[in-house]
Amino acid sequence: MATLTISAADEKRVKALGFLSNKGTDNFSGRIITVNGKITAAQQKCIAEAAEKFGNGIVTFTTRLTVEVQGIPYDKIEDFREFIAKEGLETGGTGSLVRPVVSCKGTTCQYGLLDSFALSEEIHERFYKGYHSVKLPHKFKIAVGGCPNNCVKPDLNDLGIIGQMIPNFDEDECNGCKKCSVAAACPMKAAKMVDGLLEIDKDICNNCGRCIGKCHFDALEEGTPGFKIYIGGRWGKKTAHGRALSKVFKDKEEALNVIEKAILLFREQGKTGERFAATIERLGFENVEAQLLADDLLERKQQILNAELHVTGGATC
Ligand code: SF4
Ligand code: SF4
Ligand code: SF4
Repeated sequence: MATLTISAADEKRVKALGFLSNKGTDNFSGRIITVNGKITAAQQKCIAEAAEKFGNGIVTFTTRLTVEVQGIPYDKIEDFREFIAKEGLETGGTGSLVRPVVSCKGTTCQYGLLDSFALSEEIHERFYKGYHSVKLPHKFKIAVGGCPNNCVKPDLNDLGIIGQMIPNFDEDECNGCKKCSVAAACPMKAAKMVDGLLEIDKDICNNCGRCIGKCHFDALEEGTPGFKIYIGGRWGKKTAHGRALSKVFKDKEEALNVIEKAILLFREQGKTGERFAATIERLGFENVEAQLLADDLLERKQQILNAELHVTGGATC
């Protein structure tokens, strides 16, 4: 029978490093951050070796693209961390902080409208690592989706960013064909013939870009790439669908700044223990959106970071 000898304080300390107690034992699962679910063959070998050397030989994959090695004894935790660091791997991903980023495979997917692995890596560096010492009211989850197919459910994250391709339709070039190949290509039925000419209903169009190049008369040759941002999604004990900001961002830096502003707003205006969805509900979506589109939060960044806030956040896992 297992003897439980690890104190609550030590359990808490290693949890902050990404080691979660295996119930009823003195062992832990080490949560390895994969940045965005993409690891090299050498890293996979290293994880497998570490699982045999320090754990019980079992490796599990979490829903948020981290990898957990089970059965690591408390006194092997530091050796384990050192061992995986050889391949540039680290543990973490717990607490009331920006959590590991989740990404779809938009980089290689036939529908991908952005390089989702590159973007999620940038977000990982700037916000997972860059904000690792910044306490938040609760956990803050970010997902990157390559297109509006939403495979990684960006709208169920505190913040989701999705690739866009806005169709540039030139109605002067439209000949009003009997059978419109653009309308036929639109999965959303947003492109349709109205009074003999093609029209794209902007309220229905999700900027998937599937219609681009489909017109034989050059009326829809190009699209403009962009980023849509959803805020306030969550999935768990309570659920909420994120809501898209009204602006589609054409500039990546601007979109990344919106992510930073959302984190700063959550830190400053969120109440300890509430998720971002609840903060948005309490403050009002329009108010939050206006702040995310303005410059004030970034201008006050140091002041917000220096404030003594959320010493004990609401995250329990
Ligand atoms: S969201 Fe789009 S780009 Fe990403 S995996 Fe799904 S279909 Fe591919
Ligand atoms: S195929 Fe091109 S030219 Fe013909 S109706 Fe559609 S958009 Fe217009
Ligand atoms: S971008 Fe997609 S949803 Fe919009 S009109 Fe083209 S095919 Fe339809």
